[in-house]
This record gives sequence, C-alpha cells and structure tokens, in this order.
Amino acid sequence: MAKIELTRIPFIKNALKSRYPQLAVFIVMLIGYIFAILAGLIGTPVGSHNFSIVFVWIAWWAILILVAVPFFGRGWCAVCPIPLPGEWLQHGAVLSPPDKRPKWLNLRVPKMFRNIWLQNISYLLLALFSSVLLTTPNITGIVLAAMLFAAIGLSTVFERRAFCRYLCPVGGFIGLYSQTAPIELRIKDKQVCVTCEGKPCYNGSSAGYGCPWDVFPGGLTKNTYCGLCMECIRTCPHDNIAVNLRPFSADLAKPSTRMDEAFKAFIMLGSAIVYAGVLLGPWGMFKDAAYNVGSSAWFIYAIVFLAIIFVVLPGLFTLGILNTKNTLPLKQRFASLSTALIPLGLMFWVAFSLSFVLTNASYILAALSDPLGLGWNLFGTANAAWQPMLTSILAPAQTLALVVGLVWSARTAQKSANEAGTSSMPVVIYCFVATSLMLWLLL
Ligand code: SF4
Ligand code: SF4
Ligand code: SF4
Repeated sequence: MAKIELTRIPFIKNALKSRYPQLAVFIVMLIGYIFAILAGLIGTPVGSHNFSIVFVWIAWWAILILVAVPFFGRGWCAVCPIPLPGEWLQHGAVLSPPDKRPKWLNLRVPKMFRNIWLQNISYLLLALFSSVLLTTPNITGIVLAAMLFAAIGLSTVFERRAFCRYLCPVGGFIGLYSQTAPIELRIKDKQVCVTCEGKPCYNGSSAGYGCPWDVFPGGLTKNTYCGLCMECIRTCPHDNIAVNLRPFSADLAKPSTRMDEAFKAFIMLGSAIVYAGVLLGPWGMFKDAAYNVGSSAWFIYAIVFLAIIFVVLPGLFTLGILNTKNTLPLKQRFASLSTALIPLGLMFWVAFSLSFVLTNASYILAALSDPLGLGWNLFGTANAAWQPMLTSILAPAQTLALVVGLVWSARTAQKSANEAGTSSMPVVIYCFVATSLMLWLLL
C-alpha cells in the first residue's frame, strides 16, 4: 500500500495547523486529569467506584491500548495533558509566539540520560507496584500528581519536553509500539530541508516552537520519538511536513540497534506475560504476593518479575540466536532481531487488556454518575450492577489477537533477519513458544 498524505485534505491540514482545536482538547484533558487526581485523593477508597481508578485504569487504558496506540501511534501524546503546565511555564505563554530568551534554566539533558533507560526504570517501578496502583485510588492520585509535578520540574530545568522524552513511564512503551501504527509524520522532500535556512522546525521561529521532543523533523525515520505535537507543521516555512497514512509497522523494516529500545521490547513482553499469570491466572498465592507490597512474598515476586524480564526472556532469546550464521556482532543482532517482539508484545497487551477491560468496563457507568463515591447519581447510572461484558467473544478475540501477533512478529523477524544477514527461525520459534504460553495463561 502506498502512503496517503492526509494533510493534503485542507480540513485536516487547517485543523492541525491551528493551535485552537488542540488547545480545546488539551484543556478538557487537563481538567479531567486534575479531577482524576482529586478523585483519587479525596474520593471513596473503594477503587471500583472511584473516578481515578475507573477512568484511568479501565477507560483510558482501554482506549490507549486497544485503539490509540495500534491505530494512531503517539496519538495520545498529541493530546496528553501531563506536559502542558510545565510547557506553558517554560514558554511563559500558552499560545503566543515564543520569546527567544529562555525563561528558566533551559539546560540540555546530559548525554548519559539521552536514551530510554530512565523510562524503562520508571515503567518498571510502576509495574512492580501495579496491583496496588490499579486498585487504590489515593495511590493513583499521588502517582498522577507526581507525573504532573515531575513534568513541571523538568521543564524549568531542562529545555523542551525532557519528561516526555526521557522519563515518562507511559511514553516509553507508546513510542515503542507507535512504530507499528499506520500513521506517521514525515517530511515530504529531503532536498528542501537541506537548503532550508535556520531549520525553524527544530530551532523555532515566530510561527512556533522548535520541536518540543528534541528531534529534527527533517531526519525522522521512525515514530518512536515524535510526539505528534504538530509544532513543525506550524513552523516549517516550506510546507514540507506531511501526516501520512501508511501500511502497519512500516518503521520495523529498519530494525533498531539500540539496547535500551531492545530491552523495552523485552520489558513490555515480559510484563504482559507476568500480568496475565498474576492478575488473571488462578494462582491466589501469586496474587497475594503482588498485592502485599513490602512483604517478603512481594520481594520474591519483584525479584522473579525482574529476573523474567532481564534474565530469562533475553537469555533464552540470546541462546536461540547465538549459533545462527551471521554478519553482525551478537549485540547488534540481539537488538536488531528483538524488533520482532514489538508486534508480538503489542498483541499480548491487546489480548490481556481485552480480558481486563471487558471484565471491569461496567464500572464506568456507575463511576460516571458518582465519580467520587459520595452517593451522587448524576446520570441515573450510579447503581448499575457490575457484570462482565461480551464474555462469549472474549476467548475468540484474545486468540485472534495472539495469532495475529504471532504472524506479524514472524513476518517482522524475517525482515529483521534479512537485514542482519541471518536466519529468522530461532526468533519465530521463540515467538511461537511465548504465544503458546500467553494463550495458556489467558484461556
Ligand atoms: S510521553 Fe508521557 S507525559 Fe509525554 S505526552 Fe506522552 S504520555 Fe504524556
Ligand atoms: S523547517 Fe521544514 S524545510 Fe526546513 S528543515 Fe524543517 S522540515 Fe525541512
Ligand atoms: S515538532 Fe514535529 S517532529 Fe517534533 S514532536 Fe512535534 S510533530 Fe513530531
């Protein structure tokens, strides 16, 4: 399928160029985010009746993992409210053109942190405490507030969106999986960029800010670090930026060779498997260990979780590819071939989330009418009874998601193996075993 330039359609282009539609969505999102913090902190401690739990971990998660990431990549980042207050403070403005003088320290993030290891760590911290986070409103409120304040703090010290680019626990995996999405923002003509004076898309101009994500749009080849903020569409004086519809997973044709990105794929794959076993499986002992944060059982759970992610999964993968005929050093082959785990991991999360979301979606109606659990009945749905939804299609839908993930990862493995000059067979077998395990855990 050839690319289709969506920004050729005047309505789409104008909507993306203007700051007002995005600002309107931002404001609604920010109000919802602040309400979720307050609901978490002052609302009912019963998670299933608190707006913060129900809307963040059920409604938002469902939209993010089942729709936004697979179809729009970093589409969520385009409307996410978390970086906004910090960015407004950093710019000293909400909409007006940038003042060239920096308002705050405006430091460059040190080179050693310019990777996604901090995002991997921040994600793992949340993942280890997720059973409590997903069920305890005040912990969710504290975490949401901490993310907002961390983004504000980093905006006053570092230039651009340092929190989004290097620390956000959500942004790391959205970036990884955004490579599979059928949407991209790219330049139209490389040659125009070569002769473009001042590169306003990166350095900013009176028309707008330099790329908040610290990428040079003229060199974009992957979705991973483009937050779809649309700033470069506004600043490019040559109308050289396009938003395109493209085939799924086009970015994966050129595998990454970065270890931080390779480990992100293992972290996401491993945590989907662990969650499926612990949160949905029949083993009460594992669930107790995950919920009793601070107990010795929880420490064992945390060690096993980290060992699966950092030792077992990458170790088995390395063993598999160790003896394949190759032209690349093992480290590079490891990073390159792990690209196949990106579609696999995404579909593992889709399959896991279907179960989690369909089981709990009926709480949304009740929480809508009584978001703080204070006995309100705003829309007459406060007493809607809990009942799992679409139970008859759950198992077939999960199986379909896993099979699609396996076929998709096998095709990706073939392409990565061709690039690396090696065989895809060990990776395909690895993906098959992982999929069988996930199928067994979910069904
Ligand atoms: S990286 Fe995180 S904070 Fe930044 S826009 Fe994306 S989800 Fe929001
Ligand atoms: S401003 Fe436009 S033409 Fe200039 S470098 Fe950036 S994308 Fe290319
Ligand atoms: S300025 Fe352009 S390249 Fe940079 S994050 Fe925004 S949309 Fe992506």
